[in-house]
Amino acid sequence: MNTFIYIITLRTQEYEYHFEYIMAGSGNDSPAIGIDLGTTYSCVAVWKHDRIEIIPNDQGNRTTPSAVAFVDAERLIGDGAKNQAPMNPANTVFDSKRLIGRRFSDPKVQEDIKLWPFKVIQGCYDTPKIVVTYKGQEREFLAEQISSMILGKMKETAEAYLGKIVKDAVITVPAYFNDSQRQATKDAGTIAGLNVIRMINEPTAAAIAYGLDNKSDIAGKINVLVFDLGGGTFDVSVMTIKKGGIFEVKAVAGDTHLGGEDFDNRMVDHCVREFKMRWKKDLSGNQRALGRLRFACEKAKRNLSCMTQTSVELDCLHEGIDFSLKITRAKFEYLNMGLFNKCIMILETCLSEAKMKKSCVEQVILVGGSTRIPKVQDMVQEFFDGRELCKSVNADEAVAYGAAVMAAKVRCSGDKRVQGVLLRDVTPLSLGVEIQGDLISVVIPRNTPIPTSNAKTYRTVCDYQSMIEINVYQGERSRTRDNHFLGKFRISGIPPAPKGVAEVIERFEIDANGILTVTASIISTGKTEKLIISNVNGRLSKKEIEKMVRDAQEYKLEDQEFKKKAEAYNALEDCLYKVKNKIEEYNTMKSTVNMKEVKKAIHETSKWLEDNKAAPFAVLQLQKVRLEFVCKSLF
Ligand code: ADP
Ligand code: MG
Repeated sequence: MNTFIYIITLRTQEYEYHFEYIMAGSGNDSPAIGIDLGTTYSCVAVWKHDRIEIIPNDQGNRTTPSAVAFVDAERLIGDGAKNQAPMNPANTVFDSKRLIGRRFSDPKVQEDIKLWPFKVIQGCYDTPKIVVTYKGQEREFLAEQISSMILGKMKETAEAYLGKIVKDAVITVPAYFNDSQRQATKDAGTIAGLNVIRMINEPTAAAIAYGLDNKSDIAGKINVLVFDLGGGTFDVSVMTIKKGGIFEVKAVAGDTHLGGEDFDNRMVDHCVREFKMRWKKDLSGNQRALGRLRFACEKAKRNLSCMTQTSVELDCLHEGIDFSLKITRAKFEYLNMGLFNKCIMILETCLSEAKMKKSCVEQVILVGGSTRIPKVQDMVQEFFDGRELCKSVNADEAVAYGAAVMAAKVRCSGDKRVQGVLLRDVTPLSLGVEIQGDLISVVIPRNTPIPTSNAKTYRTVCDYQSMIEINVYQGERSRTRDNHFLGKFRISGIPPAPKGVAEVIERFEIDANGILTVTASIISTGKTEKLIISNVNGRLSKKEIEKMVRDAQEYKLEDQEFKKKAEAYNALEDCLYKVKNKIEEYNTMKSTVNMKEVKKAIHETSKWLEDNKAAPFAVLQLQKVRLEFVCKSLF
């Protein structure tokens, strides 16, 4: 029997297991974390103290801006990067999620580039590259690298909280992410030093956070709508959760440029108009002022979710003029009504695409920081005829929460509730082979839970045919050319016979890792061959990833070095102040301490510090030891 094996890696609709986990997971006692890698904000959570805990970052914030800034001497990630963005727009990179796994020539990428203050160029294989100036040099980064820096920050946040090295993580991705976007996100995890044990869809993670995977057992099947209004994007997903925790996404709709930032921008525009009216001056060309305004407006917007009135106050906003403006919740809603209505229209589209009446939706889940806006909640509730919405988990934390539940489940930690979580994937599209007439013969239909296998027998179509070419396709259309081509292989050595006599068995197998194996066998010969086609399609090679991992570690070391230096600088400065203060005390006490030497040391050190701002750590420390030695008689 001749056997040819053809292996294709398939990214499935829900998630993908990580092979390395099986090897790396055992013996590792640090918990696995769940990361929501958002377009504008990211969030990390873990199972601890018998519950899921959202981990605050070093600033005490439970979500971290997905931004990386490159400054003269240091690299900033998260809040630090966002805070300095108005002063350093060209070197503050955000929105890497919009670039990841996409081509430079993608029209969506081209549209985004027009809006970004940082530079993006075309790299080889049409990959987009972000160009920044760092430490006086021009540097290029892939979106995977920027995302890896954010993931690295989330990893560090978790490590600081847990006091342990964290390796394993579940990362979430939007339901609509295609194969290359998922792969690239996983690569970003690897570069950050994470072992991505699973990737799950954001709406699925949110549904898990609300415990909906368990409810499906009661009714057999429930229909869920996830309304995710975040910082930069709006995603609606209609899902059904079937018995056994099978999550099936029925339809997704959304707008890739609709979210919290747009609401902030409407407020900024309003402030610019007010400023013009009051002072007859146009600040719309002053990028720094606009950046400061945007920052203040986001804060004001958040306030308006719990207060009915707030104010935007900025000293010296433009041409030395202070700005102060009261904004009511009603005014904020008025400014954004058009955008809120758009959300409801998209909601309707999604339901009609899923061919589902709104009365059939059993649970409505609000996800994303912007669903904290009371008007948005009211409008969604009104759309569903007053139905109670799921709000028990923080909207901007639900996705990370669900990811952490999944992480605990995979690592077999957590309590009964966590272990009870069942999440099974389905094949998002049908898989089959090409048959005569350019038609597809489906071997595994869509929505089949995995792992699965199925075989079909095909006969020769010509007299004395000795070879068959097997073309493998994915898709729902009847003609092969309308579907997605996965790959092909040949099976030869068919014994001579009239057409329709010789038989070939074609077996499709998808394992739990989402890997498809196609085996073709001719009965009567015994030769076996194996063909593996790796998914090259613009993906990073193992070597490239290894290099990026090394680079990432180097950047981390540089950051640590900078921090150490900054601390030594501050310590020396602090020591100087202390000594100066002591001298004043001694002066008044008319002490006998020899001041001449001490004063000389202070003067010299002050001057030295002024001239040697970039001195290395060891030299700074040495200066401090010297100063302390000379001045020890003061203490
Ligand atoms: P992402 O799109 O990155 O997943 P999130 O879901 O974390 O983002 O949402 C971030 C957005 O939510 C930001 O625009 C932020 O200003 C907004 N946001 C956060 N909290 C509130 C709040 N209390 N009221 C209104 N908007 C909020
Ligand atoms: Mg989000």
